[in-house]
Amino acid sequence: MNALRKTVRLAAPTLLCSLLLCGISSAGMVDYFTDNGFANPLAVMQHPCAEYYNGKTYIAYQGPHEDPYACAYDHAAKQWSGPVKAGENPMGKTPDPVDPKVPDNHGRPAMIVDGKGYVHLVFGGHGGEFRLGLNALGTPGKGKQTHVVSKNPQDISLWEVLNNVDPFGTYSQFVKMDDGNIYLFYRHGSHRSDWVYQKSTDNCRTFAPPVSILKHKVQESDPNVHDAWYAWFEKGKGDTISASYVYHPCKVKGHTKERYNGYFMKMNCADESWENASEDVLALPVTKEYADKNTLVCNTGSERSNHGTCRVDDEGHPHLFFRQGKGQVRYYRWLGNAWQPPVAVPGGDGDMIVESPQVVRMLLSGGNEVCWWKTTDGGLTWGKESCLISSPGSGYVASALVRNANPDGRMAVSEHNGAQNHLYRKLFLLGDSGPVRRPEEGASNLGDRLKNLEAVQPAPKPDKAGKKHRNKSEEGDGDE
Ligand code: ZN
Repeated sequence: MNALRKTVRLAAPTLLCSLLLCGISSAGMVDYFTDNGFANPLAVMQHPCAEYYNGKTYIAYQGPHEDPYACAYDHAAKQWSGPVKAGENPMGKTPDPVDPKVPDNHGRPAMIVDGKGYVHLVFGGHGGEFRLGLNALGTPGKGKQTHVVSKNPQDISLWEVLNNVDPFGTYSQFVKMDDGNIYLFYRHGSHRSDWVYQKSTDNCRTFAPPVSILKHKVQESDPNVHDAWYAWFEKGKGDTISASYVYHPCKVKGHTKERYNGYFMKMNCADESWENASEDVLALPVTKEYADKNTLVCNTGSERSNHGTCRVDDEGHPHLFFRQGKGQVRYYRWLGNAWQPPVAVPGGDGDMIVESPQVVRMLLSGGNEVCWWKTTDGGLTWGKESCLISSPGSGYVASALVRNANPDGRMAVSEHNGAQNHLYRKLFLLGDSGPVRRPEEGASNLGDRLKNLEAVQPAPKPDKAGKKHRNKSEEGDGDE
């Protein structure tokens, strides 16, 4: 009885506030849904990081201490919940670093909602520490790939760890198929490691052992160089999975971040066989020599290349972009017998929606904005459409599109402001009519963090640090 009375007492002012808010415009509303994204909280690589499921958009990101956090937005009720801390990242540092080079950023979460509505995150890995044991498919790194699941379906309030994936992963990516099977793709260690997947047929309660698809190895001609890869996976047409990737010559001495070329292949999930765009069956795992011969989309020579995303049209033909050239991405598509020559589209990073073989839209971050670009002639020419967010003092870092997105929530982005002297970022959920707003009270989640920060560490010179970090974010992380 007492408990009931208490509930009623609390509910009455809440209802009154809601009515007042409805009546008096959107005072107290902000464009961001939280301000506690940390360092590089989101990226296109670890994906999906958000999914629309049964009326709600669930979003996962890297928050304080590089730990995984989750928020949810109920589209009908226009109500946010979270952030909720969902786990512990072993690579997190205390106190909060203020130097953008210090956070690792590789352990930011990828997210999927399973067939029963449970929300899964995989995070915390950068190849796995040496003490975790022998890594048969690569070389040790840092952290530990960790899997958590919500205790209840469609509810982000409580989480539990499931010890059922290899600890050696990084760049974790989920692909969910129409039959409910879920594939977890990742690099099995630090740079000099294979890319693999683990398959689950029971909503991520168990996973089959890792299967290698891209092979790392020492170059025969130069033992100082290992062949290594950066790859991006997504559901293709029907029961297929697309893989697009770039090559990294990983030098033992004189290491650089250089990456080149672009490649494509796809898996037929029915028998887990792979083929190239011409539908020639491939022998896996793919080596550098084999990829050059069978899966090459573009040879960039001495010009650098970085991964983008890959989506397919109704015919199953892939449309891809790679980050090649300064301030632009390059778009490619399979014409049925050859790759269409590359076309540059201004922007830094993002993702795309393939409406038909001729009509494609890209949502790209770049400069101080995030905007749609559209082609209606199969990618030969592109026009800029609406911008979903822009600010003269800030840059934005894109993530992959929200899985199964509601038009009101297409992509989560982080804001990077060059003038600030800390690494906390505001996060936005961008929909067709701009950011999804939230009462400031719910979006303000830093508490005393900034005050504490100033007490323990001197602030870096704001302009230099901000500018440097913004550039770094557009290029992606250090990827060690
Ligand atoms: Zn390397």
